Amino acid sequence: MKRTWKDVSVPLRDGMVHWPGDPECHIKRVSRMEDGAVCNLTHISMSAHTGTHMDAPRHFIADGITMEQMPFEAVIGRCRVFELDCEDQITADDLKKLRLAPRQRVLFKTRNSTRSWATNEFDKDFVSIRQDAAQYLVEQEVMTVGVDYLSIGGFNKDGVETHQIMLGAGIWVIEGLNLAEISDGYYELICLPIKLEGADGAPCRVVLR
Ligand SMILES: [Zn+2]
Repeated sequence: MKRTWKDVSVPLRDGMVHWPGDPECHIKRVSRMEDGAVCNLTHISMSAHTGTHMDAPRHFIADGITMEQMPFEAVIGRCRVFELDCEDQITADDLKKLRLAPRQRVLFKTRNSTRSWATNEFDKDFVSIRQDAAQYLVEQEVMTVGVDYLSIGGFNKDGVETHQIMLGAGIWVIEGLNLAEISDGYYELICLPIKLEGADGAPCRVVLR
């Protein structure tokens, strides 16, 4: 069987959904060949946490390390996709049913993949990681955690705490995946965030096979 790479990153586009209060995503062509320019040229302006992106510890930890210092092993290699049917938040009890292991790369597929990305409106009710689950992930010593909407923590629930717990423990976080086409199981993961020097996060392209 031919195993093909599947793109689980969301397309970046002008005016796309973003975290409330964060800068908007502007992608504009500033030079157009159809207007006689010698080339096409696009200007982009957005938060480092737009679309599919990673969080560096620096996002919530004042002296945490920054994006360009991320070890490649955090984002390249075998990973496990867990499909969870949580309706609200992912809890420690939900995670205790899974087989988590130290140094594991785990991606959580929830209803976000089909529901939250279906609209360009920000979904305040997306499934997020409750702080007790964040603590459990730290205790299990996982290396990398990926989620299928814009934040590991919820909107007005555990947002700060979940980030502080996971980033404080050095877990590398991938946010904004779309896992709609992916089922539970093991995959090869390649996720490469752009090399933003000193940054607390960076957009990335993520593929699974
Ligand atoms: Zn982020």
